[in-house]
Amino acid sequence: MSRQRLQDLRLALPLLPTSTVGSFPKPPELAEARTRFARDQITPSELESLEKKATEFWIRTQEEMGVDVLVDGEQYRGDMVAYFAELMDGFQTGGLVRSYGNRYYHKPVITGAVKWPGPMTVAWWKWTQGLTQKPVKGMLTGPYTTMDWSFNDYYPSRHSACLALAREIRKEVETLIEAGAKIIQIDEPAMSVRPEEFPFAIEALHILTDGLPAYFITHSCYGAFETIYPDMLKLPVHNLDLAISNSALDLLRLFEKDPFTKDLSLGVLDVHSHTIESVDRVKERIMRGVGVLPADRLWVDPDCGLKTRTPKEAIDKLRVIVEGTRAVREALAAGRTIRPARAARAKASA
Ligand SMILES: [Zn+2]
Repeated sequence: MSRQRLQDLRLALPLLPTSTVGSFPKPPELAEARTRFARDQITPSELESLEKKATEFWIRTQEEMGVDVLVDGEQYRGDMVAYFAELMDGFQTGGLVRSYGNRYYHKPVITGAVKWPGPMTVAWWKWTQGLTQKPVKGMLTGPYTTMDWSFNDYYPSRHSACLALAREIRKEVETLIEAGAKIIQIDEPAMSVRPEEFPFAIEALHILTDGLPAYFITHSCYGAFETIYPDMLKLPVHNLDLAISNSALDLLRLFEKDPFTKDLSLGVLDVHSHTIESVDRVKERIMRGVGVLPADRLWVDPDCGLKTRTPKEAIDKLRVIVEGTRAVREALAAGRTIRPARAARAKASA
């Protein structure tokens, strides 16, 4: 079904399309410029010209590496929730909190009705897509994660806050599609944090995606996916992008029990490690995916955004992904396939 959606959108992608989750590291001069901008020492246009230069660098890098579906690298964004909360009406900036690992951010506070302020990412998407013939993904933070990573001082419940956000973020999705975006990724890293609230995330993504002509991907990480599987298959998106590189390889075993019915982006590289994985290791991880799902339903990417790596590490990791994927494509073309599990094949053709 999902290959059909890609065809309907006239997106000709190779077997095992390669992509990345969204963010790339900012070059030191951009990181420094963002600090100076926060202190009013440089103008918005000076900052923007550095953001554009860095975005173009990452587009050229992805093209040179041979990545199939590109991202703008989020060079103009700071935190993935705060970026949107600062733009939308209904939020105020809260104090600095630690969410997980070493991630500190100003936790937004919902103090009024949330409202889409007009396009938040569309100008960047258009500018970036104008640099390349390859498809560039539209990238948004999802309503459930935005709600979960904010304080709510306005809505009567987390559920109502989540749905209100979904109705407003849908307007950004519609505007991205009008601008020409065909692949849209909704990041929901928090979606498995409270399994009892997972139905909110499903309901919110229905509000966001129903009836819209795009190929939708949802990325999640840090998750105890076994707590929301197989309900995860109810998410109204075509592709689930999940971290597979570490313990989550066990996830593939869950699929053997309850067949996975969507496309799967296999996050095969650990973005939190400085170590560059070997091509063989990536190849082996992809092959494990091919052992469980038909190859034409798999994509390959790192297990999360690469922004915490150095630019060199990010480039080296990209190279390994592309080379590992090419090796698997060649092996599959030569007939050295691992047959997909019968259950998954039967379900896919149903
Ligand atoms: Zn992630």
